[in-house]
Amino acid sequence: MITVSPSHFAAQMAWLAKAGYRTIGSEQLAAWFAGEPLPQKSVMITFDDGYLDNWVHAHPVLKAHGLSALCFLVTSWPGEGATRAHAGSGGALPPLLDHHAGEAAIENGSADSAILRWSEIDAMRAAGTFEFHSHTHSHVRWDKVTTSAQEKRERLAADLAESREVLQARLGGASDHLCWPQGYYDDDYLSAAQQAGFRHLYTCEVGPNYPRREAGAARSISRLEVRDRPVSWLASRLWVHTRPAISRAYLRIKR
Ligand SMILES: [Zn+2]
Repeated sequence: MITVSPSHFAAQMAWLAKAGYRTIGSEQLAAWFAGEPLPQKSVMITFDDGYLDNWVHAHPVLKAHGLSALCFLVTSWPGEGATRAHAGSGGALPPLLDHHAGEAAIENGSADSAILRWSEIDAMRAAGTFEFHSHTHSHVRWDKVTTSAQEKRERLAADLAESREVLQARLGGASDHLCWPQGYYDDDYLSAAQQAGFRHLYTCEVGPNYPRREAGAARSISRLEVRDRPVSWLASRLWVHTRPAISRAYLRIKR
């Protein structure tokens, strides 16, 4: 449901570029929330988890079109080693696992076969195709595996702190943008994230985003889950969700 084939991704990105869309980064999004204007055709592209195919397929496509994306890393998953081949770089591409096989590989301690390496992350940053932000350190749903609210808050706080430390050490900085594992959050999660210094919280909720809410408070960011569908699907969804009244009516009917 939440993976896109390389051919559909390439077609979607080619369409965005041709239609005059420009991609924005985390700082531009934060400025827009604070009241700065953005061109009408602005879009943010996000990837969760840091899968290897972000390097093999998404990075060269974004580069070809002058687009950029955000990737939310589970900071305990990326490995060491040299960069692998990506599409168009020459050389044999590394084998890519499907989503379930990738999850199983991570579970079995072979994350390197499914997840980006730090060297690839550095190369993507240097090329300007990707920014990297936190998706926690462990991806564990602490609400499901702890027995008290107190324990849940402590484990999540430690998870967020560790993620920040890794990003700081590896990338030279950790931003205030955080993506919730599986889109889950509750009041304890929100306060833990705010205490850890996160202000921009990416959900799996669909719908319009609005600028100019309370200054300084954390804000939840809606996203459109892009399907493995042709350009016409993406174009129609962008049309709907960039018109707040139509987006709300569409979501009401869908529910
Ligand atoms: Zn995730």
